[in-house]
Amino acid sequence: MQPVSILITNDDGYGADGLKALEASLGPVGTVWVVAPDREQSGQGHALTLNHPLRFHKRGPRHFVVQGTPTDCVYLGVHTILKGEARPGIVVSGINRGYNLGDDITYSGTVSAAFEATLMSLPAFAISQETGEGTPVDFEAAARFARTLVEQVLARGMPPDTLLNVNVPRGRPRGVRVTHQGKRLYPGGVIERFDPKGRSYYWIGGQSAEWEDDPKSDFAALEDGFVSVTPLHLDLTNHKVMDQVRGWNLEI
Ligand code: MN
Repeated sequence: MQPVSILITNDDGYGADGLKALEASLGPVGTVWVVAPDREQSGQGHALTLNHPLRFHKRGPRHFVVQGTPTDCVYLGVHTILKGEARPGIVVSGINRGYNLGDDITYSGTVSAAFEATLMSLPAFAISQETGEGTPVDFEAAARFARTLVEQVLARGMPPDTLLNVNVPRGRPRGVRVTHQGKRLYPGGVIERFDPKGRSYYWIGGQSAEWEDDPKSDFAALEDGFVSVTPLHLDLTNHKVMDQVRGWNLEI
């Protein structure tokens, strides 16, 4: 039997340690193809490059860098770089340095790469590692879990229109929880600073992360030291409020 092709990408860029840890871990499961951005693309969300030419370069056997976003990597990876090869059996994005929880996933290049694969009807998951201030990031547990999950998905199949958002806590995980997407409370943190010429500039974030108290959420799982696995789907429709909106005075 032909070994399965596994396409991996990330948003931290080709040189990131999390990507290397993922590649090493998945090697025994299939033929790993690395198609990653040539530089950090964190926070780029589901951006697709449409207004300038996209280029990629081969960096080694089955290693490619793309001058673009994580979504570009999946798009070019599947349609161009792996053209003529077996279609990937699974796409894995990560291991991201830093978690991707709650509403923040809409900003995430890591999660969006998995979304892109799902749009192509390929099984996919995103995996992110919680970091701590001043401590080196250890990707070992996340890499090990990524391999388990790939094996599970290949054996069982991914439910249609579904991707998984996986987050791994710092330290030794106490177990695994299937969670729902939590909700972050945004204090609206913007840091204002002044450059040497006295002009103000701004830096988004910096606020401490706080979220709605919800024991079944992805946030709670991490806080309790568990790996969080959140099944996501592409349908963003808020079905519960459709009748309410229908009741508005909508005329044209
Ligand atoms: Mn990142």
